[in-house]
Amino acid sequence: MPSAKIYYDADAQLEVLNGKQIVFLGFGNQGTAQAQNLRDSGIPNDKILVANREDSYAEDARSKGFIVEHDFEKAAAIADIVFLLIPDQVQPGVFNAKFAPKLKSNVTIVVASGYNVFFKLLNFAPTQDVIMVAPRMIGSSVRSLYQKGKGYPCFVSVEQDGTTSGLTTALALAKAIGATKAGAIASSAREETIMDLFAEQALWPNIIMLFREAFNVLQEAGCTDEALCYEMWMSKEPAEIFERAAEDGFIGQLKHHSTVSQFGQLSGSLALDGSAARTHFKEILYNQVINGKFAKHLTSIEADLEKEGLQNPLNELYRRAEETELVQAEKRVRQRLANLL
Ligand code: NDP
Repeated sequence: MPSAKIYYDADAQLEVLNGKQIVFLGFGNQGTAQAQNLRDSGIPNDKILVANREDSYAEDARSKGFIVEHDFEKAAAIADIVFLLIPDQVQPGVFNAKFAPKLKSNVTIVVASGYNVFFKLLNFAPTQDVIMVAPRMIGSSVRSLYQKGKGYPCFVSVEQDGTTSGLTTALALAKAIGATKAGAIASSAREETIMDLFAEQALWPNIIMLFREAFNVLQEAGCTDEALCYEMWMSKEPAEIFERAAEDGFIGQLKHHSTVSQFGQLSGSLALDGSAARTHFKEILYNQVINGKFAKHLTSIEADLEKEGLQNPLNELYRRAEETELVQAEKRVRQRLANLL
């Protein structure tokens, strides 16, 4: 089985960032965390520029001491390194129109997700570096773990090595945001994207479906709303199981359960024939994710995702999910709990 190279602090030199003008396009979940980590790692404040529209994000950046530029074209023109930290679905529109035409020929473009690079939705010049530094953590944890002196998992890759220094820059930036402390895993935009989209379009939909059907069957057998909601997720037991899995092993964590539970889970899972699931998973992976069918569809409805109400296809999906018995029962339980307060 293939194993990945892992880069640590000792593999990276922050000095290669000396004198470089770094621009953060976006100051949201990742932008706020990565910009602050970078500054705390010794990058001078006047070498960091936050490009953002004038709103609460810009205000937040200024309140944290950063210099803010509203004119994206001006920001693009001075950048040696650009962190692309706006939502994936708006990146092609903003980057291709406002940033790409003004960027230096030897600029380094940093993405935190492989999606737009893998599906070739961003316009890069061949002389530019395109690297991925993708924390596997929400932004608030990227910041809090850095502040505690701890690392966090992160993927790093060079997608286009226009200057031939792509890897050196990628590792320096990964170190500066605190991602090489625990080891940054060599990956690729392809690997990151297909794993991410597969989890979102195959694994988790099946888990949601299994919970929904389990709920229906147990409700039909006479279990109450309260008992079911608490048994299945409101007790936070599933969260605890996954936390234990991260610490003690995916199967090893079972040892924390009763013998009855261990026996039931192991014998039950080993008896299940996964071949139908495997066929279904492969269909999604190859004919929806890797062939770009999903990405194309998402691009075609991008404008609709900004709409209000049920004109927005995401809101329509929420409406349909809300109709399921699991969600209705949970609403009833939460309402009764609120009435008790
Ligand atoms: P956010 O949703 O937090 O981004 C918000 C920022 O994007 C704000 O600065 C906002 O400013 C700006 N923005 C939003 N829409 C536009 C627009 N149309 N034009 C210009 N700026 C815009 O993004 P995340 O931090 O969640 O994600 C950034 C990247 O990091 C993505 O590639 C994502 O996949 C990746 N990532 C995210 C993780 C997470 O924790 N969420 C984890 C790992 C990777 P304003 O609205 O003022 O324009």
